[in-house]
Amino acid sequence: MAIKMRTIQLENQTVPVRQAETVIMGSGAAGLCMAKRLYDLGKRDVVLLTNGLMMGTSRNTGSDKQTYYKLNVSGGTQDSIYEVAKTLVDGGATDGDTALAEAALSARCFYHLADLGVPFVLNEYGEFVGYKTDHDPKARAASAGPLTVQEMCAALYREVEERNIPVVEGITPVKILKDRKGSAAGLFCLRETADRSGREFVLFLCRNLVMATGAPAQLYKKSVFPESQIGATGVCLEAGAAGKNLTEWQYGLASTKFRWNVSGSYQQVLPRYVSSAPDGSDEREFLSDLMDDKTLLNAVFLKGYQWPFDAAKLGAAGSSWVDIAVYTETVLKGRRVYLDYMKNPLGMEKLDKSLLTSECRSYLEASDATQDIPLERLYALNADAVQLYLDHGIDLSKEYLEVDVCAQHNNGGLAGDLWWETSVPGLFAIGEVNGSHGVRRPGGSALNAGQVGAFRAAEQIARRGKRKPGPDLSEQEIGEQVVPVLRLANRWLQGEGEDNLRKTADEIRRLNSSYAGFVRNAGEIEKIIEKAKGLLRRPEQLRIENPSRLGEAFRTRDMLVCTVCYLTAMLDYIRAGGLSRGSYLVAEKLPDFGAEVPVDLKHLEQVQEVFYQSGDANTIWRPVRPLPESPQWFEQVWRDMKEREGTL
Ligand SMILES: Cc1cc2nc3c(=O)[nH]c(=O)nc-3n(C[C@H](O)[C@H](O)[C@H](O)COP(=O)(O)OP(=O)(O)OC[C@H]3O[C@@H](n4cnc5c(N)ncnc54)[C@H](O)[C@@H]3O)c2cc1C
Repeated sequence: MAIKMRTIQLENQTVPVRQAETVIMGSGAAGLCMAKRLYDLGKRDVVLLTNGLMMGTSRNTGSDKQTYYKLNVSGGTQDSIYEVAKTLVDGGATDGDTALAEAALSARCFYHLADLGVPFVLNEYGEFVGYKTDHDPKARAASAGPLTVQEMCAALYREVEERNIPVVEGITPVKILKDRKGSAAGLFCLRETADRSGREFVLFLCRNLVMATGAPAQLYKKSVFPESQIGATGVCLEAGAAGKNLTEWQYGLASTKFRWNVSGSYQQVLPRYVSSAPDGSDEREFLSDLMDDKTLLNAVFLKGYQWPFDAAKLGAAGSSWVDIAVYTETVLKGRRVYLDYMKNPLGMEKLDKSLLTSECRSYLEASDATQDIPLERLYALNADAVQLYLDHGIDLSKEYLEVDVCAQHNNGGLAGDLWWETSVPGLFAIGEVNGSHGVRRPGGSALNAGQVGAFRAAEQIARRGKRKPGPDLSEQEIGEQVVPVLRLANRWLQGEGEDNLRKTADEIRRLNSSYAGFVRNAGEIEKIIEKAKGLLRRPEQLRIENPSRLGEAFRTRDMLVCTVCYLTAMLDYIRAGGLSRGSYLVAEKLPDFGAEVPVDLKHLEQVQEVFYQSGDANTIWRPVRPLPESPQWFEQVWRDMKEREGTL
């Protein structure tokens, strides 16, 4: 379908204006599903915007056995929608109504994907056999292998193509436009050519704007998000959308040259952890600084399936001390950390089984993986794991694997209602940009939440579409909202001195990783917030040398807005007496090895929301919306539905 086009003059620039009933920003698993669902519900006036179809988390991510979480639909396990919802809510700081919707639609969204050809593992009777993932009592996880989400994208994109839904690539969202009533009415964007040399501003006017831009991954330097994942949460926060649970992320050990979680077999084969000075000299095994030999080997083994840093897994001999030890090396001592698969830890020629726990020994024996060195054990346990690195130019038989504790998932994000609509009417947030999760979530629930969000938002838009008038912005109203953006671009371009954009942004990202990542230090967080606020208040401090750098400048601005909001949330949480929880440690000083670290239980029934206005962020706390007793009397539900649909 063709996109309607005209142009307007703004600050001596001709800006193309395009109009569609619904604009979807982002082409990951959530955005693609949204486009397909809307079309199937009869909404054809849709345009899908993205920086690139092959960019973002979904298109570029994988893990050992990538998981989709849903109702258990195989074998004799008794499961129910209510129990799935209860598991989600038990994660803490999680709203019950959206959890119930995620549970209710989980099987439907999963079958939708299976029917589109995603090769989820099934037995000869057609049962999609489940397994247990973290925080999952009922073996609800399904998988299509290490690249489940890439399979999902491929299947969903085939549907988008088949339906000829227009896709515009090279887009960076810059500002959300609103109408007189405060509803979302358009998205002002920068459009770059694929090689980023050419660019133009372009305005998309719409009745519904669906943000499916994933996590604000550029907040952190240490990250296992793909490099092409950026995020546009800041643009939404600037438009007045509330943030929710922004404190909640998941962090874990990942390789940095090629970004991949070093979980599962990568740890179970007991590699040697070494650190060195930045130039590679002064190599040493550092875990022994903290732990005796037996504790060390057990902690590394457990890291395999206790992958993310978990504040509850410290204490006497928990596996999360490994993450703390890595932090001590990389952040506190400025060294580099590697996994070595060529030699055993602790100078062992061969694996000394007497040092292993019975769990570790029987696991390796049962897997026929007790060979002399970690690499041989890795071949025995999971040869694909070695090949994966070879495919990305890293030969574990010849080189060390550099690792660090990296950001991997944002549980929080934008606040949405039961239809994934944000606090700005007409602005929906689906996928990882939506913060429907709390402190913990079962592995795989992110992929389900993205699909459910797309189904819910599409349904609401389809229902409302019949009644909602078209975007109604005069040229003057557009100008009032857009001209400040054009002037900002000019200020960056006209600044004197050399281009300092990348350097400035990298420094903020480095600080965020060091002090506002899995270890949170209130004093440092406060300083970073002030730095970010200063850069937003005086944008001329950022200088770019030519217009081809504008996209990066707007993306950096987004990251600064996120820094202010996310770090204000963290600071407020700590000041409210919040202790370590989930995947982070609240500490001015690291605990001594073996110390019991108190974990927060006070804020589990509360949600923190964050609002951004004029360069500053404010927070409020509210009780979680409880898990509803959903109506189950058929005649009543039928009547309610007709009322909702306007057909009664
Ligand atoms: C290593 C790793 C392993 C994971 N394993 C699992 C798992 O096993 N199970 C599970 O449930 N989840 C897992 N996740 C999380 C899950 O993959 C993501 O939550 C999910 O893919 C996000 O999908 P999305 O559609 O919301 O966003 P994305 O896939 O991130 O899509 C965002 C889209 O918006 C575009 N975009 C973003 N920012 C901008 C911008 N500024 N300008 C223009 N375009 C932009 C991107 O290019 C992309 O098209 C994993 C994540 C990682 C990193």
